[in-house]
Amino acid sequence: MPHLDASNAEKPRHKPSRGPRVPMPERSAVERARDFDEVNLGYTEEQAKAEADRCLQCKNPTCIDGCPVNIDIKSFIRHIIDGEYADGVAVLKERNALPAVCGRVCPQEEQCEAACVLAKKGDPVAIGRLERWLGDFDLACDLEERCEPEVGENTGYRVAVVGSGPAGLACAGELRRFGHAVTVFESLHALGGVLTYGIPEFRLPKSIVQAEIEMLGIMGVEFVTDIVVGATYTVDELMSEQGYDAVFVGNGAGLPVFLGIAGENLNGVYSANEFLTRVNLMRGYEFPKADTPVWRGRKVAVIGGGNVAMDSARTAKRLGAQGVFLVYRRSEEEMPARREEVHHAREEGIEFKMLCSPSEIVGHDGWVTGLTATRMELGEPDESGRRAPVCVLDSDFVIDCDTVIVAVGTRANPLLTQTTPDLELTRRGYVVADEQGATSKPGVFAGGDIVTGSATVILAMGAGKRAAQAIDQWLDTHSR
Ligand SMILES: Cc1cc2nc3c(=O)[nH]c(=O)nc-3n(C[C@H](O)[C@H](O)[C@H](O)COP(=O)(O)OP(=O)(O)OC[C@H]3O[C@@H](n4cnc5c(N)ncnc54)[C@H](O)[C@@H]3O)c2cc1C
Ligand code: SF4
Repeated sequence: MPHLDASNAEKPRHKPSRGPRVPMPERSAVERARDFDEVNLGYTEEQAKAEADRCLQCKNPTCIDGCPVNIDIKSFIRHIIDGEYADGVAVLKERNALPAVCGRVCPQEEQCEAACVLAKKGDPVAIGRLERWLGDFDLACDLEERCEPEVGENTGYRVAVVGSGPAGLACAGELRRFGHAVTVFESLHALGGVLTYGIPEFRLPKSIVQAEIEMLGIMGVEFVTDIVVGATYTVDELMSEQGYDAVFVGNGAGLPVFLGIAGENLNGVYSANEFLTRVNLMRGYEFPKADTPVWRGRKVAVIGGGNVAMDSARTAKRLGAQGVFLVYRRSEEEMPARREEVHHAREEGIEFKMLCSPSEIVGHDGWVTGLTATRMELGEPDESGRRAPVCVLDSDFVIDCDTVIVAVGTRANPLLTQTTPDLELTRRGYVVADEQGATSKPGVFAGGDIVTGSATVILAMGAGKRAAQAIDQWLDTHSR
């Protein structure tokens, strides 16, 4: 949590600083690779003000267009400059119910910071770090002093939200602002979706996620865990028997995808989702104190090049692996993971095996002993615009390992959709919804990964919020 002294705040006339970007303090790679504590330490008040001072307070703040939920970035930075921190939090919360989360995990370098005018000539304002700092400022306040978005007058309508990930949480918060009663149904025993079971503690502490969710509880959102919609109740039953006037489907896309190569059934092979859930949610590394064990590999190969692969590799390292290899079939330049995560992974000793395509997992007595891979080279660009990897003849080699973690993506879980026959789906099983989240089924809205496929936290939140607005209008015109 940041060191704060609001009484220290001055009311400056703003003359932008020409200083360099204030670096984010972080723990040393050697120290942090041994535990699950957070890597980035966050700005102090002094550092946050120094960074805010770099903002030009542009007449045309292009940063705002770069934000998927159009947070008034210029204004919240202005409040930091002026020492009006609670006002800054209020600006953030106008558009984003989870600023301490987004300040940590949003790919700002591709969004608001890429659109900042300072990015044209050098380092943009560190908007994400400032968002995180204000979010933490809010969480460090006593509960009664925290910024509580206003809740609308009770409308008498009840909305069911399926899933407590960023899409469901954003939708639920917004629905409360309209005055509708909201119940969030979550299949797991813990709330937060990927924020809780996927993204590891060293990037996003669970206490931050829970504290942000607590505020939604204070706003009157009701949470029910251990309910699988599609099994415990169908969507139709929620509406006809449980009396909900509308349903928002935000159940994510958490079904693991495998490569379909030989050896994937061997002991020691995990999907990234299972591996991360065992560690993050079940605290498998504390077994037998925790109920669910996790296999601690000595040499671990992680297949993939996204954030999920990076999280899996860094988690395996923290579980004590001597060697962790990241196996990716394209080059480092094409890896979809955030640059910061790639940098941190390298610092922590993850070995990158680029331009290597896995072809078989080999084993002995039912257990993994290695991963066979083929060397690749980059050919012509494919339909994604990236240069396609092409096999190098007779280049197979074996990576010695006892664990393989497959992090090549996820897809939609059919449990809910197959029990909701009138919900139109794409060929790949995702829910078809318009920009506002309306689906083919009257009164049922959807957003987040279940519509777009695996995307980002802020895109899921934006979809949840837009759907809440559409639900509000729909209730106004269609219900009762
Ligand atoms: C390991 C990992 C790291 C990531 N890192 C980043 C990052 O750094 N930055 C970023 O922006 N994005 C990141 N992402 C992507 C991001 O987390 C997702 O895009 C986002 O969480 C999607 O939100 P959602 O609400 O649609 O779904 P989810 O977060 O998946 O939430 C869906 C929820 O619905 C519940 N559910 C599912 N089915 C049912 C059912 N039938 N009944 C009731 N509940 C159900 C699930 O248990 C889950 O809690 C990462 C993803 C992963 C897996
Ligand atoms: S574009 Fe950059 S410099 Fe201009 S207001 Fe936004 S953050 Fe500040």
